[in-house]
Order: sequence, then structure tokens, then C-alpha cells
Amino acid sequence: MEFADFAARAREIESLSADHDIRDGVSDLLADAGPALPVVARYVQGRVFPAHDATKLDVGPTLCYEAIAKAAGHNVDADDVETRVAEVGEVGAVAADYDLGSQRGLGAFGDGGVDSLTVRDVDGRLRELAAAEGPGSQDTKRDLLFGLFTRADPDETRYIARLVLSEMRIGVGGGTVRDAIADAFEVPVERVERALQVTNDIGDVAVVAREDGEAGLADLGLVVGRPVGAMLAQAGTVTEALDDWGEAAVEWKYDGARVQVHYDGTEVSLFSRNMEDVTDPLPEVVTFVESALDVPAIVDGEVVAVADDGAPLPFQDVLKRFRRKHDVAAAREDVTVEFRAFDCLHADGRDLLDAPLVERHDHLADLLDGSDAVADLRVSDDPDEIAAVESRALEAGHEGIMLKNPASAYTPGRRGKNWLKRKPDVETLDLVVTGAEWGEGRRATLLGTFLLSARVGDEADGDARFQTIGKVATGITDEQLAEITDLLEPHVTAEDGAEVDVEPAVVFEVGYEEIQTSPTYSSGYALRFPRFVAVRKDKGPADADTIGRVERLADRQ
Ligand code: AMP
Repeated sequence: MEFADFAARAREIESLSADHDIRDGVSDLLADAGPALPVVARYVQGRVFPAHDATKLDVGPTLCYEAIAKAAGHNVDADDVETRVAEVGEVGAVAADYDLGSQRGLGAFGDGGVDSLTVRDVDGRLRELAAAEGPGSQDTKRDLLFGLFTRADPDETRYIARLVLSEMRIGVGGGTVRDAIADAFEVPVERVERALQVTNDIGDVAVVAREDGEAGLADLGLVVGRPVGAMLAQAGTVTEALDDWGEAAVEWKYDGARVQVHYDGTEVSLFSRNMEDVTDPLPEVVTFVESALDVPAIVDGEVVAVADDGAPLPFQDVLKRFRRKHDVAAAREDVTVEFRAFDCLHADGRDLLDAPLVERHDHLADLLDGSDAVADLRVSDDPDEIAAVESRALEAGHEGIMLKNPASAYTPGRRGKNWLKRKPDVETLDLVVTGAEWGEGRRATLLGTFLLSARVGDEADGDARFQTIGKVATGITDEQLAEITDLLEPHVTAEDGAEVDVEPAVVFEVGYEEIQTSPTYSSGYALRFPRFVAVRKDKGPADADTIGRVERLADRQ
């Protein structure tokens, strides 16, 4: 395909506003692209390289303006170009206005003719440009770009300038190209979507769709060594998780940096969340993977910085290691990192994306047999058990917990509802303890579960009453339990088996996810996912929160 043809169609697409017209325009463009299809599919969404490829052109605005100025002739310099870009608002129109290729007729090949640019020519030049490294590389890049501009007509110039600065902006996103591939080559859009997730290359997917249709797309699998998008999480609550899935897989949430580990049987490659190759900066992770894995695999996890005693260090410490290109050994002295594995996308020749999370986790445990690096995963339908996992995570210095749908597939690059990072509690309530239960076994001498009440009316009128609203048993350390037992014992008014009545005296600050109406408690409300925060020694029963506040909070939800 001639680059002029691509540019003319890009201009046409840019002029459209209705989504379906844009999709049709892209679809026609792809159908007519011929051998240039993979490149055209990337260029039309402003990409020079596939998404899995972190290669960068490394062309900044200044270098681009210099190349434009040089092609524009003697009386234009880079500052002039910059000024005009500031006025016009985008580089493409400015570059097109200079009519950089107008000198082309003076070249050896006459007017246009063999000297015209094909999509392949542009792609070849841009790849050369990306490959230029080291001293003098900026000059090489400028010369290559200048060479392209002098061969380009105004529309071609417009899109070359925008491509190199990653500012294509013709209203075509990944979703449009995906739909256009489905249209142009008559394949189901879900197949295209899935193929994109596993290959991470819209160019390859377009070609397979055209050449081998739906069956070809279905055959595409993960390639060890080629990163895919990381599955992402959204904020959510235990309540939502249990309501939606019945039970939730719970893991600690580590405060580090996401890393996708690829091991092909001999070599390890590590990729960051933006698909950058971070193998060199993380030699100890490479060593760990080499010693732990026997078969080809793709493993997803988090790299965390740890102190000498194994305690987690802040995320910024991990970043110091990620960004380090030189003198990795010295950086290693400063910050020690470890890998925590929580998912497995491929094991020994088998893609596991569609396997349920719990099954993928079993593969992970098998692969990294006995290693501490495998994140603990607990499947539970019990909010207290989940809260206990969270307390332990926080105690160990981690960020909190992740809740995952145990039956869910791995969806690369998607932020769906199957992974939730638990939202921290927004507000707390100060509630009076009006009952308790003795613990069991090791905790038989300690009060364990506490019945909580909110205040009704105002104690000043001498008519203070309390209504129950929930029980809290989680988030309390053994040490705190002992202290609380001492505080409450003098106020016990009746005992019935393990249950005791307590006169209102002690106030707990309690976190929760949600307030529900409920017939279980006398207030008519129940706290979902209540967790102990602290004993409010500074407060008496008269200072506890009222049912009125509970009602207002419930209304606001
Ligand atoms: P956030 O960056 O706040 O959106 O939280 C999601 C990120 O938490 C993921 O992209 C991971 O980098 C990180 N993370 C830490 N622990 C886990 C885990 N057990 N499962 C999934 N992601 C985790």
C-alpha cells in the first residue's frame, strides 16, 4: 500500500464523527491494505510497534521539529516550528503546511514515481530510527526523519509527524480496530478480542483473521517470552464479593510492582506492567525463577522490597530497582527485592487463561513447589475468616487484601469485576459493648466475640437505652483481647453458658463496609463486615454513636 493512500484514508477517517462511519472507514482500509495489513492495523491506532513490544522511537518534539525545519528549508528553524505548533495545537497540521516534499521533484527520481513512499518504506525507516542507539543516535534519527519528510506530500507529512510523536488522534482506538477487523474479515468480534488479549499484537491478529479466519484466531495462544496485559483489579468490598460469588478467594495485597515472569525452559524474561523488559534490573528474581522452575511457564506476581528482617518496604524502594539500568549490583546492596507469585497463565505447554483461578493457583503451587514465593490463597464464604486474613496482612505490614472470584478466568489487560482490591473503611462507629462470649480452646479465658449497641435517645434526659447492631470478633490481637477482658469483666451482669451480658461501659470504635437493615438485631440494622479498630477509653456510653447517626449513614450509602 502506498503511504499516500494510507494518509488519504486516515484524513477521511479523521473527518468522520459517527462511530459506525469510523469503523467502516477502518474496515475498508484494512480490507485494502494487502501485504501492509499488520503495519496499517497498528498505524491507524497510532502505534508503530505491537503492544507487547516496548521498543520506543525515542523521538522527542524537539528532534521532530528540527527534522521538519530542516526539510522546510533555510529560513525555518526548530523554534519557528515549535511556535506554530503552539499556535495550531498539533504537529501534523503544521508539518503539512510547510509542504516539506515540494522539493521532491528536484530529486533523482523525478516527480513522485519510484520515489513515492510505501507503508513498508515508512515502517522500515521508523524501525531503523528506533534501532539507532548510542552517541550520534539523535543525529541519525533526525536525518532519517528528515529523509522521510522530504519524500512526503502534505498529508503523508501530517501522519508521519503525528506517528513519531505518538499523537495520531484520528479518533480510532483499539476497540475500533478490533471491531473493524471483525467486520473486514467476517470473524466474530469476541474471537478478535480474545486473540488480541493473548497475542497483544493487533497487526498479527488482523493477518490471522484475514488468512485463517475464526479457526485461526481460536488457535492463537500465549507465547512464552512475549508479555500480555496484566489482569487488573477494581475497588470493591467483601460484601460485594460474597454477594456476587458466594465465596471469595482472598490473598494479601502486596505493595510492590507487578511483574510477569516468562521462562521458556532456559531463559527468564521479566516484564513490568507496561511490558517493559525488567530482566536486567532484577537479577535475584531471575536467579529465583531459574532455581524454582523446571518447565516453561508464565507466572504473574509482584516484586516487593524487603527489609533485612523480611518486613515489606514501601513501593518507592521497588521503583528504585526497576529504574536502575546501570550498576545493578550497587542498587542490590541498597534494596533487596523478592518475588511473590499469585497467578499462572501458562504451564508446560498449556495455556491456563480459561482455567478457573483456583485451578491456576494449584498449577502455580505445583510449579513453585514448596516455595514461600507463592501467595497464600484462601477461599472462604465467611466474612470473619476474610477479616482475619486482612488483619494478618495489615499486621505483617502489607496493604490489605485482594478478593478474587475463585471461578474466574484470567483476562489479560482487563479491569473487571473478578478481582477486587478491598476498599478501606470510610467511616467508623463508636459503639457500646453490651454483651460478649467467652472464647474457645486457647482463648477460653478471654472474652472473644462482642455484642455492639448504638445509643437511642439522649442520656441527658435520663432515659438512655441501647439497641444492638452487630457483633465483632475480628481485628483483635490476643494482647488486646486480654486487656478488653479485664476492662469488661467488672461489668458482666449475667452469664449463660459462654454468653455474658455486659452493662454499657466500654466503647469500641468499629469499622464496617456497609449498614444493612436486618431483623437480627434490636436496632433493625446490622453492620456488614464489622471490624474492631480500637477501645475508645476517652468515651463513655453517653458518647457512643446514636441510632440516628446509623440511620443517616445507612441512607447515604
Ligand atoms: P492497584 O495498583 O491499587 O490498582 O492494585 C492492583 C495491583 O495490586 C495489581 O496490579 C498488583 O500489582 C498488586 N497486587 C498486590 N498483591 C496482589 C495480589 N495478591 N493479586 C493481584 N494483584 C496484587
